Amino acid sequence: MNVLIIHAHHEPRSFSSALKDQAVESLRRANHEVVVSDLYSMGFDPVSDRRNFSTVKDANYLKQQAEETHASESNGFAADVDAEISKLEAADAIIFSYPLWWFGVPAILKGWIDRVLVAGRVYGGPKLFEGGLGEGTKRGMVLMTTGGGPDVYGGWGVNPSLETILAPVQHGVFWFNGFRPLEPFVAWSPAHVSPEDRQAYLASLDVRLEHLFEEQPLVLPNAADFPNWGTDIQNRYMVVVTRKREPDEEYLHRLPDELRTIELWKRQGHVLDMQAAGVAEPNWRAFLTMRAPGKHDVESLLKQLPLAGYLNFDITELDNIGMAQR
Ligand code: FAD
Repeated sequence: MNVLIIHAHHEPRSFSSALKDQAVESLRRANHEVVVSDLYSMGFDPVSDRRNFSTVKDANYLKQQAEETHASESNGFAADVDAEISKLEAADAIIFSYPLWWFGVPAILKGWIDRVLVAGRVYGGPKLFEGGLGEGTKRGMVLMTTGGGPDVYGGWGVNPSLETILAPVQHGVFWFNGFRPLEPFVAWSPAHVSPEDRQAYLASLDVRLEHLFEEQPLVLPNAADFPNWGTDIQNRYMVVVTRKREPDEEYLHRLPDELRTIELWKRQGHVLDMQAAGVAEPNWRAFLTMRAPGKHDVESLLKQLPLAGYLNFDITELDNIGMAQR
């Protein structure tokens, strides 16, 4: 398989660069073809303007997407952009390797995204989401270092959740273009952990990349579920979960499996959100927001929970209040 790594760190001896080097080594050992666009060492120009093109559609008004469509039809991309599009077209998986900067990607990588993901050759018309360049089967992975630790990005921290922070890449770049996002690989605060912990990050990346193409990607919704770019044809449900009886030893024994099942459903797009009271709360409740074609599908899923026998499920279909108000 062909893997394209887009790397965006200005220091070759950084930990981010060490992760990139590890990724190259691990993927080549697994017999994949690896191409690296090391944006700083290439001197990649991140500024998106007329220098993206050798052709001109409208010299009086620069409308980037119109120029991109024209350039796609007339082989009119600048050599640096054209080379990157060709690498992207050949890739079965893309990896964005970067340090988290200002809750986002470094400017040089944002410039690559802005200049290389062009209307026409890369996306547009039916070429989006499951119909996109990645055909709904190719893969996208984030390989990221951070300053903050996992707690600040865990959903209860002072920063937005990791999922929110990565949505522009996972949803806006990978999935928008038909590349199924994988679980991100995050090396938390590499500058503040022990040398052993940094080695452990490299070792776990090595193990993970051996099976890059066997991993179950995260499921984000297909564009086909939103006809005419409207709202979801699948329904949303609020499930209020209460206990039939107090937790016993068996309950606690099954709890880890229960949580793993919920995590899996989140990855598969069945559960959009879950909040639960602490296990010891006398008036224990959990709240799930679920996405499914019908109530029956929600009921069938909930029956599969390892703790289903202990629980009551009160399922309410949700309304799209935002749309109703418009
Ligand atoms: P480095 O400091 O380069 O490396 C850490 C340590 O690893 C160093 O001691 C290095 O010597 C060592 N190392 C290198 N190679 C190896 C190896 N092979 N084996 C073992 N050790 C090795 N953080 C946030 O959380 N959120 C933000 O929004 C954010 N915004 C930022 C914005 C900017 C402009 C900047 C500059 C930083 C920001 N940060 C933010 C912090 C940034 O994310 C981290 O500094 C960065 O991700 C750390 O990764 P690094 O590769 O640069 O670490």
